[in-house]
Amino acid sequence: MKIIMLGAPGAGKGTQAKRIADKWQIPHVSTGDIFRANIKQGTELGNKAKAFIDKGMLVPDELTIELVIDRLQQSDCANGYVLDGYPRTIPQAESLTSELNKLGESVDYAINVDVPDENIVRRMGGRRACLTCGATYHIAYAQPKQEGICDRCQNALVLRDDDKPETVLKRLDVYHAQTQPLIEYYENQGILRTVDGTMDMEDVFKAIVDILGA
Ligand code: ADP
Ligand code: AMP
Repeated sequence: MKIIMLGAPGAGKGTQAKRIADKWQIPHVSTGDIFRANIKQGTELGNKAKAFIDKGMLVPDELTIELVIDRLQQSDCANGYVLDGYPRTIPQAESLTSELNKLGESVDYAINVDVPDENIVRRMGGRRACLTCGATYHIAYAQPKQEGICDRCQNALVLRDDDKPETVLKRLDVYHAQTQPLIEYYENQGILRTVDGTMDMEDVFKAIVDILGA
């Protein structure tokens, strides 16, 4: 099963992608996580990406497309994957379609997690992230067992630099300008499914399971 998660930053793509990955036993491929791991390790890619991420901008397609193509060729992706945060531009989507076409394959579903902008800023301010294992929490809606500490790996949780309110507003602008057009792109391919992302996380997951057919 090959699944794409669409939606604004903070809509809940990562939260749901992790649950899909667990249930269907497929890898969760998050470009944001890959960039953050590279930033943490101080790689050349990480240094280049950081300049864009900190400003709330997208990392250029030249740096992103190859990275994802390589990742999807790894053996753990042979039976499918859930892509979170990719594609985010029409050229990224077109590249994915054509790479899959070469293999006679295609994406099964693009799940659009729909959340209005008003809810997003509130959600992002409360998000806490583990930069070691990629787990995500919320100070009100998804608390860790021990405040400020990751349940999975016991490292410290942080407010991501790009989750500060001024950067979130910029990211929302970028989303509307560059990523939202993908909704129509996948609608035209007949694989778009929209879920109401303002519901409780459990109900959002139930709606996704209904679509994917448990
Ligand atoms: P994205 O991957 O789309 O950027 P996340 O999955 O990281 O978004 O979710 C953003 C924040 O909102 C996190 O702190 C997460 O715990 C919280 N969150 C996710 N889904 C919901 C939901 N349905 N209701 C309330 N909060 C949510
Ligand atoms: P995310 O963790 O998905 O919210 O991504 C964090 C940031 O990484 C984004 O705001 C972008 O700057 C960058 N990023 C992640 N995925 C992509 C992508 N597919 N294309 C360009 N930039 C990306």
